[in-house]
Amino acid sequence: MLELLQDPLAFATLATLLGLFVGSFLNVVIHRLPKMMERDWHAQAAELRGEATPAAERFNLATPRSRCPHCGHQIGAFENIPVVSYVLLRGRCRHCGAGISKRYPIVEAFTAALSGYAAWHFGFGLAALGALLFIWAMVALAFIDLDTQLLPDDITLPLLWLGLAFNLGGTYTELSSAVVGAMAGYLALWSVFWLFKLVTGKEGMGYGDFKLLGAIGAWLGWQVLPLTILLSSLVGALVGIALILFARHGRNVPIPFGPYLAAAGVIALFWGETLTTRYLGLL
Ligand SMILES: [Zn+2]
Repeated sequence: MLELLQDPLAFATLATLLGLFVGSFLNVVIHRLPKMMERDWHAQAAELRGEATPAAERFNLATPRSRCPHCGHQIGAFENIPVVSYVLLRGRCRHCGAGISKRYPIVEAFTAALSGYAAWHFGFGLAALGALLFIWAMVALAFIDLDTQLLPDDITLPLLWLGLAFNLGGTYTELSSAVVGAMAGYLALWSVFWLFKLVTGKEGMGYGDFKLLGAIGAWLGWQVLPLTILLSSLVGALVGIALILFARHGRNVPIPFGPYLAAAGVIALFWGETLTTRYLGLL
């Protein structure tokens, strides 16, 4: 088994398959984690008001089983095979024929492709294992932020200390760079937030963005932060301008920054050192 894993192609194939199933799980996380947080807030608010909290039915990542939102048909194991089921069912519920969102197979295929590439890029070892965890967290955060403008602490905070833990042995960068990266990442966006608020009186981003950049700094070191900020602002600005121009997106409707940070984080994971020394070094 170990010999098989050390073969680059076999390892990448295995990681791609694993990524398909993790992607399927991430779909559940993306869909349910914000709802779980909302339930929590309501329960806490009710408790503060001194109201008895009604015994809510269990709702977490495992229960209840997934159902068709249209007809309530419980989705069986054979209808839940990543990507394959979607293609075989032609994107429709087997029971009522209602369309299934394309988002599900897209998240699955995307997670699989990134996982396979991470295995190929790093080769069998600790760096590949960490890269997979990092990528999966980034996919979940990007889509949750896109849907809800939230970056849950349940993901960003463990991600931050996990990055420090991986760098105890210098997996991606020296421990000192990781610690400085965590602090500088958080402070950089925290400063932008307050500066923006002082100047315009508006809140341009959320605290989750600070934590996410802090986590990226903890994984990859402070050296990649300029590149990460540059890439995410550049793509964010382009998409923002395009949305305002073509989709009549209101100027005051907040555009989540998390997906761009997450995308820049993944780029920095693979090519951060090369890009920083080769291109930013020239500036
Ligand atoms: Zn249905």
